[in-house]
Amino acid sequence: MCGIVGYIGKKDVKSVLLTGLKALEYRGYDSAGIALRNDEEIQIIKSVGRIKNLEEKLTKTKIIKATSGIAHTRWATHGKANETNAHPHQVGKITLVHNGIIENMDELKTRLIKKGYSFKTETDTEVVAALIDSYLNGDILKAIKKATNDITGSYALGIISETDKDHIYAIRKDSPLLLGLKADENFFASDLTALTDYTDKFIFLEEGEIAKLSSNQIVIYDSNLKPIKKEIKTIKLDEKDKGKQGYEHFMLKEIMEEPIVLEKTIKKYLENPDLLPDLSSYKQIHIVACGSAMYAGLIAKYLIEKYASIPCQAEVASEYRYKNNIYDRKTLVILISQSGETADTIAAMREAKKRGITTMAIVNVKTSTIAREADIPLFIEAGPEIAVATTKAYLLQVALISLIAFNLSKHNLKEPDKIIEDFKKVPRLVKEIIDKRENYQDIAKQIYQNENAFFIGRQIDYAICQEGSLKLKEVSYIHCEAKEAGELKHGTISLITKDMPVFGIITDENLRDKTLANIKEVESRGAKTFIITTDKLKTSENDITVKATSPFTETLEVVPILQLIAYETAKLRGCDIDKPKNLAKSVTVE
Ligand code: GLU
Repeated sequence: MCGIVGYIGKKDVKSVLLTGLKALEYRGYDSAGIALRNDEEIQIIKSVGRIKNLEEKLTKTKIIKATSGIAHTRWATHGKANETNAHPHQVGKITLVHNGIIENMDELKTRLIKKGYSFKTETDTEVVAALIDSYLNGDILKAIKKATNDITGSYALGIISETDKDHIYAIRKDSPLLLGLKADENFFASDLTALTDYTDKFIFLEEGEIAKLSSNQIVIYDSNLKPIKKEIKTIKLDEKDKGKQGYEHFMLKEIMEEPIVLEKTIKKYLENPDLLPDLSSYKQIHIVACGSAMYAGLIAKYLIEKYASIPCQAEVASEYRYKNNIYDRKTLVILISQSGETADTIAAMREAKKRGITTMAIVNVKTSTIAREADIPLFIEAGPEIAVATTKAYLLQVALISLIAFNLSKHNLKEPDKIIEDFKKVPRLVKEIIDKRENYQDIAKQIYQNENAFFIGRQIDYAICQEGSLKLKEVSYIHCEAKEAGELKHGTISLITKDMPVFGIITDENLRDKTLANIKEVESRGAKTFIITTDKLKTSENDITVKATSPFTETLEVVPILQLIAYETAKLRGCDIDKPKNLAKSVTVE
């Protein structure tokens, strides 16, 4: 969550920081602020809400001529989303921006109050500024080091100190931060999209490393404050990945990219089978993830248990990391995360590794923490995903984990070659599905005025329902619930009222009639039902159908329909589709 940018150089500092913040807005948008600095002074300007509010405020403010600066877009964890709590925070000689959570804030605050510090905000971040200031005795590096030694929690910090006018500083632990390099100017940011307009040379900071940036030099220190050498990576972002390319929203653009990225990812793994390791020696699999990624894992759980006969559980990382997980040496833990920076998933991965368990990861961002730390990192080829609600990355997670499930099941399957053909066909089928936008617009018209909806299905169809329900609720704010179809009458059915939308998903042939019966039950109680199924299992002319392929590929056909229904509904409800309220894309706090 939250975006950080820092710049030192000859360009207009304010513009560089604003460009960076706009690119990072997907990470949080409760408030934004910048600190501009020159030899004489530090000027801080903040505003509540979107970056455009800050931009407007800046046009009305007399801005100093700055030589460096730091900036922040916030996703509040401690204290309201008001201007006082907005970053940067300044205490004594220290001004800083922070991404993360300081867990021992109360203890540190009490200690600092005893030393004479007083606090103006409700944030944990202000405590960090005071802590560094309290250790400042000439050497800012030592003060940062001492302060971070005292902190429990996660942080990426961008720091300026009044004691050192020629540098800006950055440090990270459990929150992402990278450095951008160019002749006579240097940058730091939470992710590289903030800097791609300016440079294609990056250094990735590791845990505990401190970076000291001047306009013509970057020095990086290890946790003992010894200067170290780091690799400079050249990363060029495709032009096509940068803007909305004429689409009204990133969410729509990203759904429309699905056939291309599916083809790229599926081809990569089918044509290079060595990229997928042989997992047949594992006797149980734990899939751990958050949000949509966890629902991708749930799809794999059903496939792996049914077709490979390997016990498999899919769990949310924030629960998994705190429970007593029963491993044996033949356990494989699979982590799924688009950003590779999801805090709970990182913690679950590290816990499993500590206990000697092999970890495999499915990630989109190749330079991320999970990509670097997992024993077996596997990559989807989604390219940057900007809309907060995931679409193409989720679909690719499902594609890759379904390929893994297929590999594990191959020896039990009658016609494995036919399934490979289905995988190859699926990008084209998805293209046909997403091209029928008016069908989904029509459904959206029928549901957008409702405040509640249900998704029902059994087994793998229930896993699809979970994602369908999450997508609709996160972008349209319609309250939705996914329910196992058979479980409905054990309580939830009492909520069904006249004209309430209920989506029934049926791809599992054996359970078709069972789920259909449950759909009839809600229909009898007045629900407005929509059945999404295959042409083979079709129940009536009104059904929305996809081509019957294999259980390993049909989910890939159904999901884009649910994504487009969510998108069109949110549009009719006038929602802020790419940046739903209270959300942030990459959840780097616990
Ligand atoms: N914990 C800090 C706050 O609430 C930083 C949150 C963030 O990462 O944006 O201000």
